Amino acid sequence: MEIKVDLHTHTVASGHAYSTLSENARAATSKGIKLLGMTDHGPSMPGAPHLYHFGNLAIIPEELYGVKILPGVEANIINHEGELDIPIHYLAQMKLVLVGLHVICYPGGTSEENTQAYIKAMNNPYTDMMVHPGRPEFELDLERIAHMSAQLNIPVEINNSSLSREKKGAWGNCRRFARYMLQYKGPIILGSDAHFTDRVGEFSHALDLIHEVGISEQQILNTSTTRVLDYLTNRRKNRSNTSSIQK
Ligand SMILES: [Zn+2]
Ligand SMILES: [Zn+2]
Repeated sequence: MEIKVDLHTHTVASGHAYSTLSENARAATSKGIKLLGMTDHGPSMPGAPHLYHFGNLAIIPEELYGVKILPGVEANIINHEGELDIPIHYLAQMKLVLVGLHVICYPGGTSEENTQAYIKAMNNPYTDMMVHPGRPEFELDLERIAHMSAQLNIPVEINNSSLSREKKGAWGNCRRFARYMLQYKGPIILGSDAHFTDRVGEFSHALDLIHEVGISEQQILNTSTTRVLDYLTNRRKNRSNTSSIQK
């Protein structure tokens, strides 16, 4: 299985990541990645960039070192209503919006509250993809999330960093989640969640899990650049159809 797209990477702008976009793009080239998401953390995370960072993403070239760049954000869910930490005006301009739960940015809650928050964020028309539900910090109903992913056609991530040694306890959750995804057939993305350039395009743990659970290439969106770009284009088209109906 060849993964040609890494949708989840961080740059120095995130505050606790250590490489520049140029360094990440160069690393992506050397790993055979054709499409790279630049998804720095949303502004409610300590050290994350100011909204001005997100308002200026249009200056980033479409391609660097032969890799297409998708500038965007990894937005934070900030409450049980599933609200995000970036105004719609900014999200509407972005080429890629990832959404997830993070310590400090989200108050925590019961499994029901966390799952409701996550699912409400999945229903946000500006959300493109959901990230790392398998992280152990917040309890979630992983079966409901897998079911919603299939119903809404919203890709959910299997996060390689969660499975690396630093995040003990993620394997059990991610394995259960992957099995539910196999059962309900929702679209999956693999994300490196690189916070340093050497991790860009690194999916070895996620691929081990995918193979173990028996998920096919077809179910993984980022095995094809075209499928990812088509998905993002359609998502934006549906969004503008919805808003023209509302007018
Ligand atoms: Zn981070
Ligand atoms: Zn994250």
